[in-house]
Order: sequence, then structure tokens, then C-alpha cells
Amino acid sequence: PSMLRFDSVAMRYPDGTAALDGVSLQLPRGQFCVVLGASGAGKSTLLRMANGLVTPTSGAVHVEDRRLSPAALSAIRPRIGMIHQQFNLVLRASVATNVLSGALPGLPWWRAVAGLFPEPVQRKACMLVAAVGLEEQHLRRRASELSGGQQQRVGIARAFMLDPPLVLADEPVASLDPQASHDVLALLRQQARDRGATVLCSLHQVELARAFADRIVALRHGRVVFDGPAQDFDSRV
Ligand code: ADP
Ligand code: ADP
Repeated sequence: PSMLRFDSVAMRYPDGTAALDGVSLQLPRGQFCVVLGASGAGKSTLLRMANGLVTPTSGAVHVEDRRLSPAALSAIRPRIGMIHQQFNLVLRASVATNVLSGALPGLPWWRAVAGLFPEPVQRKACMLVAAVGLEEQHLRRRASELSGGQQQRVGIARAFMLDPPLVLADEPVASLDPQASHDVLALLRQQARDRGATVLCSLHQVELARAFADRIVALRHGRVVFDGPAQDFDSRV
């Protein structure tokens, strides 16, 4: 039983760009899979497709064996934690509000203003903030006051509020320094190890992929050119 499955998906944008072409992948539970590829290879398109933000022009995507269709989206979305390259935080809101908004996918962030949540939900937010390496005193700070690495930790805590079995991370470390990049990838890998989450993460750095991933899928011009254990990936191919 796979957590996420792409069956011969292709994506051709309205302007004719073929971003993906005949991609088939199956991700089991608990796997940390990195999609590697240069800019324009199709990584973002693949991740957006896994979240229903992009509909394939042919082929199908299944999450937990359920076909990702517009009608199924509202049931599937809460099962997916999404982490973004630019963090996508509400910068003027507090860290607590940003994290708590992860408990309300699809609703506006201001519904998450602290105090509207039952005690267990607030405790969960505090626990996650600690788990990603932030301090309790950060909870009341505005997100804008944090460094990039800290903001991405907030984005991760937000994505984990509903214990999603599928985590999608689109270039989560592209704007972070090397230390913060390592910390963020270690947190993602931990989700796979500790909780059995399936993590699909795009990167363009070969060495980070080799250091952290269980599996590497390399894309070039929208096609899979390597798919195997991370240690078998040869960057000279
Ligand atoms: P960089 O340009 O980031 O220093 P590389 O030159 O090693 O990294 O690789 C550039 C891109 O070429 C990678 O992101 C990947 O898309 C592709 N690539 C490199 N090695 C392989 C391989 N063995 N199989 C498939 N694609 C590869
Ligand atoms: P990556 O994330 O690996 O950089 P993308 O999935 O963003 O790759 O892009 C793959 C290809 O699709 C690129 O040629 C890109 O220019 C093109 N592309 C991405 N989004 C769109 C869009 N909305 N309309 C047209 N072309 C797009």
C-alpha cells in the first residue's frame, strides 16, 4: 500500500511547456524521498501535483489509494503537511498564531488568533515549537522578527499540527544557510523515522540529498533519470 502514487503523469502548461512527462512513482509509508533536479526540471510541478494545486494533463495521482480529484481534495488536504521555500508565514502575526493556523487548513489565519483553541491544541503547538528547536518565548513574537532558519522551523511546526501522514516540502532550504539547512532536513527525516510519515522533499543540492534522503528521484526536463537508494546516486551520470 503506497502513501503517494503518480501513475504516468504528464503536465503541459497552457503555454505549451512540458513540465513533466511520463512520471511514475510510488512512495511507501515512512520514506524520506528527495526529488533532485536543476531549476526548471519539474520539481515544483510534481510537488504541487501531489497537493492538488496542479492537475495533470494526463495520468493520475493517488494519496492513500484515493484519487486526487477536486471532489476528494477537502478530505485529502488535512492529510498533507506542506512546507514552502519562502515559508509562507503571516509575518505580522505571532509565531503562536502561525503554528496554530496549521490546525485549521483552508481557513484564514486570523481564525487562529491564540485563545480560540482548546487546551490540547494549544499544548500541541507548544510541544511542536519546542520540537523544532524554538523556545517558548518565541511564541509571542511576530514571525517577521525571526531569522530565515527560525521562520522555516515555524513553517514546519505549522505543517505538523495535524500529524500529517504525508509531508511535502518544496525546496525548503533554498534560502537558508548550511547549518539551518542541515537542521531543517534533519527535522524532516525525523518525521519519517519517528512517526512513519512519508516525506517528499525537493532539493537542488546533490550533497544534501545524498546525506539525508532514503531515496533519490532525479528529474531532468520533466523525466525521471534516476530513481534509487540515495547512496547509489552518482552525480556524474
Ligand atoms: P550543481 O549544479 O547543483 O552543483 P550537479 O552539477 O551535480 O549539481 O547537478 C546538476 C543537476 O544535474 C542536478 O540537480 C540534477 O538535476 C542533474 N543530475 C546530476 N547528476 C545526476 C544523475 N546522476 N542523474 C540524474 N540527474 C543528475
Ligand atoms: P523546478 O521546480 O524544478 O524548477 P518547475 O516545476 O517550476 O521546475 O518548472 C518546470 C517547467 O515548467 C519549467 O520549464 C518552467 O518554466 C515551467 N513552468 C512552471 N510553471 C509554469 C506555469 N505556470 N506556466 C508555464 N510554464 C510553467
